[in-house]
Amino acid sequence: MRCASGIEARQVDELAINIDPIQVGGRLTGDAMKAVIAYGDGYSVCDNCRKPNRLDYISKPPIADFHKDVAAWLNMDAVRTVPGARRGFQAVAHTCVQKGDPVLLTSLSHYTEFLAVEGAGGIACEIPTNNNRMVTPDAAAAKIEDVKRQFGRAPALAFIDHVDYQFGNMHDVKAIAKVCHQYDVPVLYNGAYTVGILPVDGKELGVDFVVGSGHKSMAAPAPSGILAATTERAEEVFRTTEIVGDVTQRKFGIKEPEMMGCTLMGVTLIGMMASFPHVKERVKHFDRELENNRIVVDGLLSVVGTKILSEMPRKHTLTRADTIGSFDKVAETHKKRGFYFSSALEEKGVTGVIPGATKVWKFNTYGMTKKQAVYLAEVFVGIAEENGL
Ligand SMILES: *Cc1c(COP(=O)(O)O)cnc(C)c1O
Repeated sequence: MRCASGIEARQVDELAINIDPIQVGGRLTGDAMKAVIAYGDGYSVCDNCRKPNRLDYISKPPIADFHKDVAAWLNMDAVRTVPGARRGFQAVAHTCVQKGDPVLLTSLSHYTEFLAVEGAGGIACEIPTNNNRMVTPDAAAAKIEDVKRQFGRAPALAFIDHVDYQFGNMHDVKAIAKVCHQYDVPVLYNGAYTVGILPVDGKELGVDFVVGSGHKSMAAPAPSGILAATTERAEEVFRTTEIVGDVTQRKFGIKEPEMMGCTLMGVTLIGMMASFPHVKERVKHFDRELENNRIVVDGLLSVVGTKILSEMPRKHTLTRADTIGSFDKVAETHKKRGFYFSSALEEKGVTGVIPGATKVWKFNTYGMTKKQAVYLAEVFVGIAEENGL
């Protein structure tokens, strides 16, 4: 099947159990798929754009209401949609960070946070993790003190990932934010792996900004995401344009420079909106996801020599395994080398593990049924047995 010559129809999640860490939370709902077809045309949300002309004011389709609903859902004051979490980081960094400013990141920060800091001319100051690969409030305080000694001032901004992409560990953002605020450092909560997956309450966490990824965790097309702020910070990051043309004297009303006026103008936004009722419901059932994850982790750990590098018990479905003492031993002598593992998984209908990886690798059990979790656990055990482990 082809979409067009040279473009094959993609059938990954239709044909296999996908455990790709970055894909499972972004798979579209049926409603989002319908929205994709109906709103695929460029600028399709602009049919009923009226004064004041800005995306978040459009009432048909109900984009304005969606903005209010997402803000209420996250317990934040203002929300805008952005083309990916990274564009949310960029807007905040560009607002809060001046050239030469120190910015707090962590040893587990995502590269897009680094690039946002770089783009604003900031300097990356990472809070180191402890021996358990956790970012602690004490380490945050120590790093801020270090920064103050070195730069003569506190960091201009802190990026804190609630669940990091490397281990899927859950860090105590609330306590870290409290420390940051003692030094007047605004806190950006990176919810790329949480917003749309589990309940997030920005006020309870005490953060200034909440960023989420539509295509990673909100069952939305790429590139999409949300940036939420408190009233105070919204005035800064969502400030309106002041520029005036020198010949025409033109001004641009309520357009927001950090949003480049309007952001998601079609299929991405409507896809995110169509999935939103489902997403609001699914975050209430994250306990089921953890139960499925436990089934899979138990299966893996029953293979002697396997370790889980993520915190235990798991608090998130993204998990890092170390199979140097198990599946990797087979790779030494197998005719397919390390590729035997991913190809055995594919043969059994499991996809999303990096081909060739047998040492340290990640998987994400999010969105599977219990039956699939039990099957996946059996698959890992089966591959071990077939290869004499
Ligand atoms: C995936 C990811 C991002 C990037 O999200 P986009 O929506 O693709 O920009 C940022 N931070 C973390 C921790 C991530 O896992």
